Amino acid sequence: MIERVEQKIDPMIRRIEKEVDQHQWRVLTSFRKHRVSEQHLQASTGYGYDDMGRETLEQIFAELMGAEMAIVRPHITSGTHAITSCLFGILRPGDAFIYLTGEPYDTLEQVIGKGKDGSGSLADFDITYQAISLTDHQEVDFLALEKAISQRTRLIAIQRSRGYADRPSFSIERIQAMIKKIRQIRSDLIIFVDNCYGEFVEQIEPTHVGADLIAGSLIKNPGGGLAKSGGYIAGKMKYVKQAASRLVAPGIGVEGGATHGYLRDYFQGLFLAPHVVGEARKGAVFTAAMLDLLGFKTSPSWDEQRTDIIQQVHLGEPELLIAFCQGIQAASPVDAHISPVPAAMPGYLDPVIMAAGTFVQGASIELSADGPLRPPYTVFLQGGLTFSHIKAAIALSLDQMMATGKI
Ligand SMILES: *Cc1c(COP(=O)(O)O)cnc(C)c1O
Repeated sequence: MIERVEQKIDPMIRRIEKEVDQHQWRVLTSFRKHRVSEQHLQASTGYGYDDMGRETLEQIFAELMGAEMAIVRPHITSGTHAITSCLFGILRPGDAFIYLTGEPYDTLEQVIGKGKDGSGSLADFDITYQAISLTDHQEVDFLALEKAISQRTRLIAIQRSRGYADRPSFSIERIQAMIKKIRQIRSDLIIFVDNCYGEFVEQIEPTHVGADLIAGSLIKNPGGGLAKSGGYIAGKMKYVKQAASRLVAPGIGVEGGATHGYLRDYFQGLFLAPHVVGEARKGAVFTAAMLDLLGFKTSPSWDEQRTDIIQQVHLGEPELLIAFCQGIQAASPVDAHISPVPAAMPGYLDPVIMAAGTFVQGASIELSADGPLRPPYTVFLQGGLTFSHIKAAIALSLDQMMATGKI
């Protein structure tokens, strides 16, 4: 069956490899232009002023993202922290902001907050928020946006990836159309894009098509599997500096922040990112084609254009979801002997099952799978450092699913 699927998806795999070649050339060209050398890979200490390695890395990153400026830092704890720094850096008491692509990723709920409750959330600072639901056809609702925008509105947020929501991810082409439309409605609105899971999938990023600011995590795509933690913020200089003032301190902003020993992994991870993201993409295409062959509904389908590394499969039965995740865990290089079970999770109404046996805790550029125990029992699969590993893991998952007697 693996061979059948591989034959079927061969044209997609070749296309991905061509795109990886182009990304790799772009990254290499930037490394050469900025004369990356051994001295850039060294650790800085203390205040971290004049850290040549950090400055060079950030110039390269900005260039690759088509942005004026970028910060790429180990001090950013996660994707959520990077996004939080952007929102708090830009918005001021009395401002309002709008999520154009429906409710955002779960972890942002508490960042946004509900009222002045002393929690330190945006709401606690009198920054109000509204999410525009997608239409029945999973399209952005521009009419609702137009109605929602008020004098107080300063920022419009777009989430590129589906995250763990049951909706399609938004391609750069669609994000470009959103940006155009927002600018038509009001040209002074700041446009922020949550770029998590999207980096190095398409040939360009949201900042290439007019987004003012983007953010993401280094334990997803752009860390190439080597970054041990961290995040990035890229975009217009003014806004990156505002986010940095919030992340570090006003007056220190982008200038300070020792990189300790992270830079070698960041440079090497960024260099590997096109390849590693390519492997994850191949794995996602393979997974979609294999599960489709077995009669399951997949999104995206194996032959669809992608803008992120997330693969959704509707498994239809709780036993199959559990078996799938247990198979992925059993095929992990770390903690393969542990078997995940569904459990209650903060922020989720239903029990969730999560499989991840990763070298870097929670790194979802490494192979991981998860899903809430509710119909249609959807598994979200993402990452994988090598295509071979993903194929082996899917094979093990299918074994586990067959053992349930349900397929
Ligand atoms: C992963 C992710 C985040 C942030 O995740 P962290 O776990 O905080 O790194 C935000 N938005 C989307 C769409 C994501 O996929």
